[in-house]
Amino acid sequence: MIAARIRPSFVEFIPDDLEEGVLYISDRYKTCSHKCCCGCGEEVVTPLSPAEWGLTREGEVVSLWPSIGNWDYACRSHYIIERNQVRWAAPMSARQIASVQRRDAADLRRTVSLSNAAKGAADPVMETSMAQSVNWWQRLIRWMFGGGDI
Ligand SMILES: [Zn+2]
Repeated sequence: MIAARIRPSFVEFIPDDLEEGVLYISDRYKTCSHKCCCGCGEEVVTPLSPAEWGLTREGEVVSLWPSIGNWDYACRSHYIIERNQVRWAAPMSARQIASVQRRDAADLRRTVSLSNAAKGAADPVMETSMAQSVNWWQRLIRWMFGGGDI
């Protein structure tokens, strides 16, 4: 069943059997898991870190950013979880997916090397990296919803 809404469940450990329509959030392990909102049954893991996903929470209302693109699964579903709503995004072509994946990998490498270099140093370095990452996703979302070029 395609989920139009998802509700958060704050847990210490992500359970083995996930219920559809539930976003399991572990603060302790800085990760979220849910069953793909298209109903295919695949488990989608979204680690929470500056280079991966960010969770905003207002009580029982959560948003996860950036979008979730299940390129590795047969369904290739692509959606955004915003204030407990599942907003479906346009599917991407193979070329677009490859470009996002390259960019994600570069973000991750940059964040890891910066945090290694910045051990014990100030946080602004990380903030710069996060801002760059956010800019990229804003461009991507604008492109997906607004029709501008990437
Ligand atoms: Zn799916």
